[in-house]
Amino acid sequence: MNKPIVAVTADTLLADMKPINQRMADYAPRPLLDSLGKAGLLPIILAYDTYADPEEFVETFDALVLPGGPNPSPRFYGEEPLWCIGPTYEKRDIFEIGLIRACLKMGKPILGICRGLQILNVALGGTLWQDMPTQNPKAFIQHMQKAPGQVATHYVEIEKGSRLHDILGDGLYVNSRHREGIKKLAPSLKETAHARDGVIEAVESRDNELITAVQWHPENMDDAVMAPFFRAFADRIIRMK
Ligand code: MN
Repeated sequence: MNKPIVAVTADTLLADMKPINQRMADYAPRPLLDSLGKAGLLPIILAYDTYADPEEFVETFDALVLPGGPNPSPRFYGEEPLWCIGPTYEKRDIFEIGLIRACLKMGKPILGICRGLQILNVALGGTLWQDMPTQNPKAFIQHMQKAPGQVATHYVEIEKGSRLHDILGDGLYVNSRHREGIKKLAPSLKETAHARDGVIEAVESRDNELITAVQWHPENMDDAVMAPFFRAFADRIIRMK
């Protein structure tokens, strides 16, 4: 059987900041590509494009993976950028929002990781805290961890009855590298995990099986803990193909 093709949207690196002769490179996180490959999927990297319709891209793959990256621009949820916000990149936002809508229309599964969870929430009508330490008084946990990125630092409790609970059980320690967080959850998403300060750490789509997203970075965590998560994604793609 042919392996399912999963498209990972690229980040764009400015390799040379000089305005003349500016070099740009599109890339995706290597550990994420490894995790997808290990789960039996065929990952491809998708660079943003302004010449094609998102549906033309979606026709070429079986599922979409939205990885980590810069903050979604607040213009897409009706806010102005505050002093505290980190870097934003509107071209990638527009590309990913178009891909999300096309995938939902065409019935293709989506996996969101960190920024991926945030842009999904924004694309579906939710809002974000631009910077939780200064904006969200309840977020007392260090969600931008000072520990190395692969270390699991804070606990998440997983909601019983969710698809995530079937895979990972009642809860686990996860890594955490996010300043932003979900403020208002999009109506078509449901919360499936939260940290002990109430910050939403995972979501699924309410009315179908198309969306799973987590606020942590499973691709950087212990393989024994997170491999079942990627395998479950692969199983879901095969089932829905
Ligand atoms: Mn967190």
